[in-house]
Amino acid sequence: MTTSPRALPAPVQSVLDTVHARNPHEPEFLQAVHEVLESIAPVLETHPRFVEDGILERLVEPERQIVFRVPWVDDTGRLQVNRGFRVQFSSVLGPYKGGLRFHSSVNLSIIKFLGFEQVFKNALTGQGIGGAKGGSDFDPHGRSDAEVMRFCQSFMNELYRHLGEHTDVPAGDIGVGAREIGYLFGQYRKITNRHESGMFTGKGVQWGGAEVRTEATGYGAVFFVQEMLGVQGDSLDGKRVAVSGSGNVAVYAIAKAWQMGATPVTASDSSGYVVDDAGIDLEVLRQVKEVERGRIHDYAARRPSARFVEGARPWEVPVDVAIPSATQNELDQADALALVGNGVRAVAEGANMPTTPDAVHALQQAGVLFGPGKAANAGGVATSALEMSQNASRQRWSFGDSEAKLRAIMGGVHDAAFTSAERYGRPGDYVVGANCAGFERVAHAMQAQGVI
Ligand code: NDP
Repeated sequence: MTTSPRALPAPVQSVLDTVHARNPHEPEFLQAVHEVLESIAPVLETHPRFVEDGILERLVEPERQIVFRVPWVDDTGRLQVNRGFRVQFSSVLGPYKGGLRFHSSVNLSIIKFLGFEQVFKNALTGQGIGGAKGGSDFDPHGRSDAEVMRFCQSFMNELYRHLGEHTDVPAGDIGVGAREIGYLFGQYRKITNRHESGMFTGKGVQWGGAEVRTEATGYGAVFFVQEMLGVQGDSLDGKRVAVSGSGNVAVYAIAKAWQMGATPVTASDSSGYVVDDAGIDLEVLRQVKEVERGRIHDYAARRPSARFVEGARPWEVPVDVAIPSATQNELDQADALALVGNGVRAVAEGANMPTTPDAVHALQQAGVLFGPGKAANAGGVATSALEMSQNASRQRWSFGDSEAKLRAIMGGVHDAAFTSAERYGRPGDYVVGANCAGFERVAHAMQAQGVI
């Protein structure tokens, strides 16, 4: 199960060349397009019409890109201007769907890579949802609640005209949690004079949100690991797990790892990581990160069994399973080799594209089970689709029912990627499997709907 670099078929290379020429300053977007186009050759051999019908040329160009000014006033009375983005990549399978990211690093390249990935991930879930992503270079760290509210209101003053339950349905991502979603939804409601629950997912459960949506991405990533290990006759029970990040995905990956009998031993943020040989104490972590909005070293200060390692990433810690859950390109080739050297069995991407291409290659070469984000972190968006269903039918499902549905969906995502990899001659390669299965669903729908 390796992803050895292959010469690309001429039509695919030609599309890739055009993408490079058109988007020369967008490295993350180019990385994401490479990864997909390099792995779907077997589908194109089976369905040559996909090439003849220009599916690839259209797929790599978003249906619509919106870039806008977000002016707001900070607590000192100073005017601030940020840049807002929404890239509506594909609505061929359903309304545009994908989160909003507020982080100082946000630019068009990052939003386009996330939107592109989202198209295939959403297809893989089997739900009727298209792909999009959005956000801003606004950084909520250190901002007061009032500043975050004014920013969110200004952001929505422009974005609302592009949204709607049948048009485009955002959710959270880095820097956009319960607080931000509340302010964004409130402003949409005010402007439109509609309580349109289905236009945003990740809402509070008291006002239209779904049980398990908050937990879904982290829980789903752990379910995915369990599925991969299960194929090998193994399980998470008794395993040591490294998780990066300490936000939404990381916290619930840690929680579910505990519930599955594993011991999660790391967490991180952009300042460094903590390793706790007694296992991460979830209550302390949540108090530090969610209640106090503090830094990860504050965790180590409260736990005698933990130590803080400044400016480093947790992949040097010996573990059986790694779940990168912070940000893109946070696990490189050297990290992958360190994990392999320490005997890692499985790596699953809780974050989007956290593993660099040469790191993926190194892991797969060493026989490590590797679950790409399109599959492993699809639980979040799949549960968003469940939230949309509940909003449309004015129902509320229990936590237990919702978690059972999430688990079944992750089983389905795993099986779709696994069987697609086998069908296309790359057994055990979940990257090829996920990309081919997602691409097939999108390409068939594009063919059926004509050139639009
Ligand atoms: P949060 O904002 O809740 O948490 C992000 C975490 O990652 C924080 O601990 C943050 O630390 C850390 N982080 C962010 N940027 C960097 C960086 N450059 N270097 C090191 N650490 C960093 O975000 P989420 O947990 O929601 O998202 C995490 C990842 O999961 C993202 O890639 C996102 O796209 C992906 N994802 C999220 C889904 C969801 O449902 N939320 C769904 C699917 C994927 P700090 O506080 O220092 O910035």
